[in-house]
Amino acid sequence: MNREIQQLVTQYREACHQPLCAYVYDLDRLAQEARNMVKLLPKDTNLFYAIKANPDERILGALLPYVSGFEVASIGELKKVRKVSADVPVLFGGPSKKEYELRGALRAGVTYIHIESTLELQRLLLIANELQTSAQVLLRINLNYDDLPTTNVTMAGEPSPFGMEETEIERALKLVAHQNLVQIYGFHFHSISNNLREDLHVAMIDHYVDKVEEWQSTYGLDVKVLNCGGGFGVSYDENPSFDWEKFIAALKSSGVLDRVKGKQLLFEPGRRIVANCGYYVTEVNDLKQSQQEHFAILRGGTHHQRLPASWGHNHPFKIIPIEEWPYPFSRPTVTEERVNIVGELCSPKDRLHSQAEVSQLRVGDLVVFLQSGAYSWTISHHQFLGHDQPAFLYYRDKQFQSISRSDH
Ligand SMILES: *Cc1c(COP(=O)(O)O)cnc(C)c1O
Repeated sequence: MNREIQQLVTQYREACHQPLCAYVYDLDRLAQEARNMVKLLPKDTNLFYAIKANPDERILGALLPYVSGFEVASIGELKKVRKVSADVPVLFGGPSKKEYELRGALRAGVTYIHIESTLELQRLLLIANELQTSAQVLLRINLNYDDLPTTNVTMAGEPSPFGMEETEIERALKLVAHQNLVQIYGFHFHSISNNLREDLHVAMIDHYVDKVEEWQSTYGLDVKVLNCGGGFGVSYDENPSFDWEKFIAALKSSGVLDRVKGKQLLFEPGRRIVANCGYYVTEVNDLKQSQQEHFAILRGGTHHQRLPASWGHNHPFKIIPIEEWPYPFSRPTVTEERVNIVGELCSPKDRLHSQAEVSQLRVGDLVVFLQSGAYSWTISHHQFLGHDQPAFLYYRDKQFQSISRSDH
């Protein structure tokens, strides 16, 4: 969090007259990140943003000038994208598409539908015929790949509800034969999440290309598009995050790009684009000792930022000291101690960081959870215990451009 945002947050806190709890999105940083990633892309390669990482309308708006389009996994997400643009390209995925969603996707003019089962393909054929609308399809394949790099969330290479088996391709091709409305343009893979290793990602894509070449020759297919998914990682501890520049360099020198000449290569990251532009800002509301341990209790918690509870990690944070203490009683303070940073819920699971080493932490200081831009607010259980929602502050052009409370 840069100094200007810290200052604005402190001013905002003074104006609030209650303990501060807010998400802050740095839209300048977000735009910069997207611009840098896109700039490095090789020819015929496109960057889509998977909006499930953070579907906030202002985030979509900030990314719109830079990305090739958006990946959505529900009709609700599709509507969010169409609110920011009537015609930006959309990839429509998700493992359980309903008929009304397929109908909605065709009506909204999505670019590619990721087909995840042969039943789904049959449904799409019916609907395309009913609407007399054409549909471009990528088959999502769940590869049986023993050497797929493993990360903390694996979505392919082992039994999974996502995508279809390789052995289903033949059946899918038969289903689309003898008609013109539904056309298979290529394949979609999304096999890992939060991968931190550039070399593993290149090896995985190399394997995808092996497979696609094999299917092209087996089935006489003309593959035009290859979507290699997302899963580029962000580190929440001292390990380095996935280095996009290093990845692109490794991809270029791997020879993979020569093998896919004439095809479009798509990437659809979520986390890697937005994680670092979001901050979850909370205020220490109480500080106590229980037996040998210290607890800092926040205005806020895992009902707003569930990621540390979901993954069971200690979420990185920094402290913004607040000097003002308006009360006649003394200010609870810990100095050079280990502190458990917990939320306001009546649940022992409401813990964002265990045994954090702090040089000083006082009631009234702000605890800012970094890397809270992805899979944070929207994966959280907001209604549990009925506390007020956080404010949402959007930083752009050196100021808070808008502040919202109600539209989340
Ligand atoms: C979640 C998801 C993504 C984005 O994953 P990240 O790990 O955020 O990059 C991309 N594609 C599909 C199909 C997904 O389910």
